[in-house]
Amino acid sequence: MGMQLMERGLPPEASGVLWNAKRYEEVGSIHMAYRMAGCDLLTTNSYGGSEFELSKHGLSDRMAELNRAAAEAARSAAGADGWVLGDVGPFGDVLRPQGELTADELREVIEAQIDALLDGGADAVLLETMSDPAAAVVGVEAARNCSSEVLVIVSYAFELSGAGGYRTMTGASVEEGVKRVLDAGADVVGANCGMDLDLDDYAILGRRFVAAAGGKPVIVQPNAGARIQVNGKDVYDASPEQMAEAARRLLEEGVRIVGGCCGTTPEHLAAMSQVVRAASSAA
Ligand SMILES: [Zn+2]
Repeated sequence: MGMQLMERGLPPEASGVLWNAKRYEEVGSIHMAYRMAGCDLLTTNSYGGSEFELSKHGLSDRMAELNRAAAEAARSAAGADGWVLGDVGPFGDVLRPQGELTADELREVIEAQIDALLDGGADAVLLETMSDPAAAVVGVEAARNCSSEVLVIVSYAFELSGAGGYRTMTGASVEEGVKRVLDAGADVVGANCGMDLDLDDYAILGRRFVAAAGGKPVIVQPNAGARIQVNGKDVYDASPEQMAEAARRLLEEGVRIVGGCCGTTPEHLAAMSQVVRAASSAA
């Protein structure tokens, strides 16, 4: 979503969440492009929609309105059969001891965002690009306070650690990240985005998550390959065919929900969705 907004003229420092009010139709047409590409799950344009993030743009008083609109835009594109994932982006650096807030204060802020997303028609909560399991747990608790029934998904961002393993930015392992949020009541766990990972890394991460999740469904959303700079712009180097192959491998590892993070265009998702549909009709 972020890259799609930038392609339509969103400056890198501006709030993409404001587009849910200012350019609502355009946000809807991005969702529709993904829906037409075969996506069953649409992620709301609310990654930077917490009060913390919005306050950086002087928009904290519009938090509820912007998140509700984010969910509504995805809801109308999803239609009756599609799912809307209410997106909550990272907030780990505000929690003590790294940040200033107590878990109670953080929970209240995240709860307010999730309330607005559910109000606008989100079917599930996606806490994504998480790094600190303790903060992710607060996010799960916030979602549970909003609704005991809503499906809660936690997705971590990983990078390669020196020892050849995978760690989040705060140093958490796959196993630790999974255990903490499942114990807190999350329904689905997995990985998205990440730093300097290639498509092989996501397949390995998928396998590790499936092993750690003990039967709970796993979601993996790779970036569209490695990030490279072309003319000062970030681009991702995987073709739709390579992303389709990545989706096939993830399913083979037992991952149940696949999608894409940075650089994944509707063209990539169209190729991936063909593979997923072929696999699920064969199963
Ligand atoms: Zn990403």
